[in-house]
Amino acid sequence: MATETKRIVVIGAGFAGLWSALGAARKLDELRVPPEQVDVTVINSKPYHSIRVRNYEQPLDGTLVPLADVLGPAGVNSILDTVHSIDTHNHRIVCEAGQTLTYDRLILAAGSELVRPAIPGLQDHSFDVDTFDGATRLNQHLLHLPHTAASPGRFTVAVIGAGLTGIELAAELPARLRAIAGDDQRETIRVILADRSARIGQAMGGAQPVIEEALTAEGVELRPGVSLEAVSSQGVQLAGGEHIDAATVVWCGGMRANALTEQLPVPRDPSGRVPVDTYLRVDSLPDVFAAGDCARILIDGERPSVMSCQHSRPMGRHAGHNAVCDLLGLPMLPLHIDWYTTILDLGPWGAVYTEGWERRLASQGEAAKATKRIINCERIYPPRNGNRDDILQAAAPVVQAPPYTIRDKG
Ligand SMILES: Cc1cc2nc3c(=O)[nH]c(=O)nc-3n(C[C@H](O)[C@H](O)[C@H](O)COP(=O)(O)OP(=O)(O)OC[C@H]3O[C@@H](n4cnc5c(N)ncnc54)[C@H](O)[C@@H]3O)c2cc1C
Repeated sequence: MATETKRIVVIGAGFAGLWSALGAARKLDELRVPPEQVDVTVINSKPYHSIRVRNYEQPLDGTLVPLADVLGPAGVNSILDTVHSIDTHNHRIVCEAGQTLTYDRLILAAGSELVRPAIPGLQDHSFDVDTFDGATRLNQHLLHLPHTAASPGRFTVAVIGAGLTGIELAAELPARLRAIAGDDQRETIRVILADRSARIGQAMGGAQPVIEEALTAEGVELRPGVSLEAVSSQGVQLAGGEHIDAATVVWCGGMRANALTEQLPVPRDPSGRVPVDTYLRVDSLPDVFAAGDCARILIDGERPSVMSCQHSRPMGRHAGHNAVCDLLGLPMLPLHIDWYTTILDLGPWGAVYTEGWERRLASQGEAAKATKRIINCERIYPPRNGNRDDILQAAAPVVQAPPYTIRDKG
């Protein structure tokens, strides 16, 4: 008698979801489990895997990897749709287009979204680089500026929020605006980076002074210690009454876990993430795993994971591997990462690279920029040659130590 196919469903195909699906496919391949016995299906709202960390850059050519090119050779099914609801009691998922799917194991990897507080005018008059679509919209707007009537603030960009994304974007913008506006408008270009914290890059440890130096050298005006009160088509209003004329306002106010996490009947952390154990299983929820920005794991047994590509990829590989093992009654692999690095692009000036949770300065300038390019343009991509073996091998649940620690130091 034919046995029923078991199904592992992955929601999301970002850094966590793509690698969850491939991690599961790799383990099934290793165990020689045929697709008739266990099927892996990814549901993603876009037909591509977005290299989201590059959205502050331009051009964004090559940052969208078609899912069919990677999941197809690996034998993973994909559904282009947006998940609307998750019923963990009945192991059922409903998509916006109406499709219903049941699962035997679920991996929630729907990522995160830009936090958008109820600041007057923010929704209607600001841009972002949270998604490929958002970054493209911003770039189209900037390219159109020379065709708009001269006005105060025509070539002023106010970047609000000086976390890692805001810093990387602000560092890029002066050169980008000079190329767009032309030499005769050089003097009218302003890029302002504002944040309510006392210093720009305050959380960046040993990199903080490097960030200030680089941004200043690029001509970015730093405005720490200010709060945004309102946004309009004319610019921004800061607490205390100051108005800055700016035709472009970019909101970089931090990320929050995807709202689908609210459908799991478990407590969430202040960023909306669901707690997972060392095997990426959602605490007290049988058959459900979570990975990436949706999930909070104690990554080294002590500290919570950071919403990052750095943690999302290994979380995904382990979640996929463990979902298969759990389903087949095999021992699972715990995830433990005892190192942490940060590498921040600082535009034409270079980059800054830190090691450790306290962010000790390890390298800066062109040396760090070379490392950043390797990470952004090579290391975080899945194999794109369509070769099944290469793709599955890349999904092995090993945690690679940074290969750049020694080479790029100093
Ligand atoms: C500009 C920028 C720069 C960054 N730089 C860095 C960096 O230098 N280093 C670093 O480590 N991190 C960086 N990050 C953070 C990093 O991008 C995220 O932490 C990472 O993308 C999280 O991976 P994820 O797979 O959890 O989520 P995502 O990459 O957000 O993927 C989520 C996926 O789920 C899909 N999805 C969402 N909702 C649904 C739904 N309801 N149904 C179906 N599909 C859905 C989305 O389409 C997407 O494909 C940066 C982020 C930004 C925006």
